[in-house]
Amino acid sequence: MAGIGVFGGTFNPPHLGHQRLVRRFADRLSLSEVLIIPTYIPPHKRANELASSGERLEMCRLMFSGDSRFRVSSIEIDRGGKSYTYDTLKELKRIYPDDRLYLIVGSDMLRSFCSWHRPDDILKLCTVCAAARDGGGVPPNISHKVIFDDMEPLLISSTAIREMAGKNGDITGLVGEAVAGYISQRGLYAQG
Ligand code: ATP
Repeated sequence: MAGIGVFGGTFNPPHLGHQRLVRRFADRLSLSEVLIIPTYIPPHKRANELASSGERLEMCRLMFSGDSRFRVSSIEIDRGGKSYTYDTLKELKRIYPDDRLYLIVGSDMLRSFCSWHRPDDILKLCTVCAAARDGGGVPPNISHKVIFDDMEPLLISSTAIREMAGKNGDITGLVGEAVAGYISQRGLYAQG
């Protein structure tokens, strides 16, 4: 039975904090594969500060291409509509019936976990792995299904990167050269 990591996000854009988080759990749990899954965002929500689904997919490929365990998946973008983690896990369980699924999240996500769509069913489908963001311990009622890693947080957010890119700041140290080059080439997050 192999372990498969599942890491979802807006990835607008993906950054080195994301990469560090998944690498930590891939190493710690000897995961054979980690699926990086950008969430679907309806086209009418597009704005200056929101890259398209295709652009976010491409940036994820650039960010996660250096490690053969990582694979970018368009499963939520292809499905369209609201991207519920429960639906994604159910679909992945069909594809990987014999494997164990590990849902990787920043620890800030645990605060709202109980208000997600079907949290109890999510916990039946996977083990949650959380680390590396401020503001959250593990809520006691789900602690039996959570692996917590107290790695030092990298204080990076996509929001801060978009702001910096909008002011023509150098974001290479936060997203790496490939993603920084892509953002600047396409003029993503440019203001005004
Ligand atoms: P935004 O600033 O636009 O809200 P974000 O930086 O939080 O974006 P998301 O794509 O929303 O990035 O996050 C995807 C996942 O990565 C979430 O589980 C989030 O908690 C986690 N995450 C984001 N930034 C970090 C970080 N610096 N360290 C660890 N985990 C992170």
